Amino acid sequence: MRDNFEVRDQDAAGRLGELTVPRAGVTVETPALLPVVNPNLLTVEPARLESEFGAEILITNSYIVRNDDDLRERAEREGLHEMLGFEGAIMTDSGSFQLAEYGEIDTTTREILAFQREIGSDVGTPVDVPTPPDASRERAEADLETTAEALADAATVDVGDMLVNAPVQGATYPDLRERAGREAAATDFDVFPVGAVVPMLNAYRYDDMVDAVAAAKRGLDADCPVHLFGAGHPMMFALAVALGCDLFDSAAYALYARDGRYLTVSGTEHLDDLEYLPCSCPICHEYDPAGLRAADGDERERLLAEHNLHVTFEEMRRVKGAIRDGDLLELVEQRARSHPAMLDGYRALLDHAPQLEREDHASKGTFFAVSHESARRPEVRRHQDRLDRLAVPDRLLLSEYGAPSGHGYDEVWRVVPPFGPFPRALSETYPLTAETPDRTDAAAERAAAEGVAALVAANPDADVTLAHDGWHGDALALVPTSVTLEDLSALGERNESP
Ligand SMILES: [Zn+2]
Repeated sequence: MRDNFEVRDQDAAGRLGELTVPRAGVTVETPALLPVVNPNLLTVEPARLESEFGAEILITNSYIVRNDDDLRERAEREGLHEMLGFEGAIMTDSGSFQLAEYGEIDTTTREILAFQREIGSDVGTPVDVPTPPDASRERAEADLETTAEALADAATVDVGDMLVNAPVQGATYPDLRERAGREAAATDFDVFPVGAVVPMLNAYRYDDMVDAVAAAKRGLDADCPVHLFGAGHPMMFALAVALGCDLFDSAAYALYARDGRYLTVSGTEHLDDLEYLPCSCPICHEYDPAGLRAADGDERERLLAEHNLHVTFEEMRRVKGAIRDGDLLELVEQRARSHPAMLDGYRALLDHAPQLEREDHASKGTFFAVSHESARRPEVRRHQDRLDRLAVPDRLLLSEYGAPSGHGYDEVWRVVPPFGPFPRALSETYPLTAETPDRTDAAAERAAAEGVAALVAANPDADVTLAHDGWHGDALALVPTSVTLEDLSALGERNESP
């Protein structure tokens, strides 16, 4: 059991939790955003990140500090907290990024971890090897071995009460990600960054990111806090949290600002293209686009960075609220509409519905069926997996609209796309309290037909009739031939819903 991370609430595989950081003497609420602070260039002062934006933890790079004489001397003398002016928790990276970028670095895991401890880091990082997406399998395996050696080296370092990251690599090979996750979880380390996803995110490969994280999560334990390393665009927080990511870091707020780019929860705009600011943060309240454009370079960069931070922290609060309210997947659905690549990410998430379903808890906010994809949500699957527990009478009518008077059935159950059949007594039970559109689509009907098929498979001797409201042929084709079909729309019957 890892005693520094506690899950308080859950929705899909997303968690509201608490990461205890003993060296900083703070508890960080997760999911959390760690602003990336470049010690050479404080776009927004760390003290302001804390007081104005609510940052409880930030991340900076110990390799940059170590390799700059002034910074190193100050960090060794004052410690990172004093040097940066930040009282929350500080995580440090090790130079792995520089290793990936330039092919070599002049430090080792043992040395850089000892240095991180010395300068007062609260969460340190060994030198892992980020393998880019689509690298050869041979390379990905060789890199994993090097990362495993780095973890073994890290285990020999006296880190005191500094927490230590155990990175999970494996490029785009799900089995390698899963194995790396299992090996990382087997260590005594504390936080689990899923690495080298930035190239996927930059290329809008959200579906590949989802597959990589889902694989890593299969290897990790439920009590492992997971950091989606390098992911800082608010557009994808809901998706990544729903997968079970707990920590995010954002360099995006500052990097994008430098390029004149303005973040929103549905994408990135260029300041030059904006005629209106779709935001109510203090910056957007005070300025209009022309005012921002007229600011001089450094000032404009700072103003944009502050807006970017506001919108980023705001989205993280929204995600936390959604977990609390049990409607995280509804938020994921909304965000999935912002870009086709995000929709691919959501669809990839639904490919992992059985994995999500294992972590999901039973009762949440009202299920809103608002898209084709809703039919593939884990709650639909869970309902259908449990149909074999229900007692089925000899003669059963499944009806979308009530029952004919004077019928001879033993029982009449409801059938609601996308869930399928259930006894009326369960109507007030989650997720069957769902709000569904009156104008059902084929995907929901197919899912409901699969529910009918599951019920019949568990009760092959029952005499089942399905009264449906003009379902599409491909949905009806999924209903077992033993079921008697009645098309209510053909009868012109639209009774009150039972
Ligand atoms: Zn704003």
